[in-house]
Amino acid sequence: MAVDNTFVVEKPCPICEQMTRVVKVRSRIPVVSRDEDACTHYKDFCPYLYTVWVCEHCGFAADETTFTTKIPDRHLAILRGALIGKNIKIPFAEERTLGNASTAFRLALKFLDIINGKASKKAKYAHQLAWIYREAGDVNQENEFLAKAAEFYEAALAKEHFPIGELTDNAVVYLVAAIYYRLGDMQKTTSYLSRLIGDQSVREREPRIFDKARDLWGDIRAAKKRR
Ligand SMILES: [Zn+2]
Repeated sequence: MAVDNTFVVEKPCPICEQMTRVVKVRSRIPVVSRDEDACTHYKDFCPYLYTVWVCEHCGFAADETTFTTKIPDRHLAILRGALIGKNIKIPFAEERTLGNASTAFRLALKFLDIINGKASKKAKYAHQLAWIYREAGDVNQENEFLAKAAEFYEAALAKEHFPIGELTDNAVVYLVAAIYYRLGDMQKTTSYLSRLIGDQSVREREPRIFDKARDLWGDIRAAKKRR
């Protein structure tokens, strides 16, 4: 049951400053499997449904980090202008469905758009929404958001300074390769993988990423031979 894996807390909304209920996910849920693009499947539960918090008063939507870190004043002004007094009512849902999770992610992406937010954050939202659709078996929507995630990651690689949190630029190159692999674009997959496999420093400094890249490269070669 989803409610066994989650709990409700109250947090102040950074935009309207009222207290709102949000759902947090317990750690230590048994992992069933991991896909090559880092999507992790858990036993009877999809934690990605809960990544985006939504204020039940003003409709602001973002991840926990954004909710709990100071938002720059110029962004606050834009977001308050877009939300306060607009009477956007998003009812609180303790147990999220595909429908209300998708609304939450789309709102979060929209708010990043209006403040011209970071591509790496947009990539994270688009990628996790793709995983939610994968879990639900909706391949069309999954692929639409995988393609968006790849574009946002590529924009982040071009414009942002890495590492972002624990995410290195090589980790992002690998993710882009894995996404194109899932989308069936082998040309782009191999082009990104070769940036990792051809780089001795990746092998030395980030052996885990190097190994994943080499494994995926092996899968592509094996598939080519079968054809
Ligand atoms: Zn609010």
